[in-house]
Amino acid sequence: MQLSDHPAHIAQVWAALEPLTDPEIPVVTLRELGILRDVRETTDGLQVVITPTYSGCPAMGQIEDDVNAALLAHGLKAKVITQLFPVWTTDWMLPEAKDKLRAYGIAPPHACEAPASTVQFAARPPREVTVPCPQCQSDNTTETSHFGSTACKAMYKCLDCLEPFDYFKPY
Ligand SMILES: [Zn+2]
Repeated sequence: MQLSDHPAHIAQVWAALEPLTDPEIPVVTLRELGILRDVRETTDGLQVVITPTYSGCPAMGQIEDDVNAALLAHGLKAKVITQLFPVWTTDWMLPEAKDKLRAYGIAPPHACEAPASTVQFAARPPREVTVPCPQCQSDNTTETSHFGSTACKAMYKCLDCLEPFDYFKPY
């Protein structure tokens, strides 16, 4: 009997993991962020594939623990695979994730034009982009710190409403 004849098993795993959110951004699910990549059948059983948003993201251990806890809570058996390639890009975020980030007060990333490439971990020159304020939509904002509350985010400040906010950096 082929397990692949029973896609319900896979659907069950997706359903069990659906409520999981990013530990740092509790309004956005791992699926919406594109961190939860795949649930697949292998000869060794089910595998859940996750890809970190950032090579040094300290939340990754937490995410793996959360996935394992959710599987256990539902009596499901699957191995968590952390897949580093292809490298996560902000383009994997679903549009609803970007809307939720904005509503949460984090400016969502601009779409990346360049494909994931080997230059991604090299120092990047500052981009000439405007990051609109998530509160008042003003483009009159300035970066106050390149590393915000986490390495994935930069701190910005709106010069019109004077609200500081996080910007989820694209790469
Ligand atoms: Zn503003």
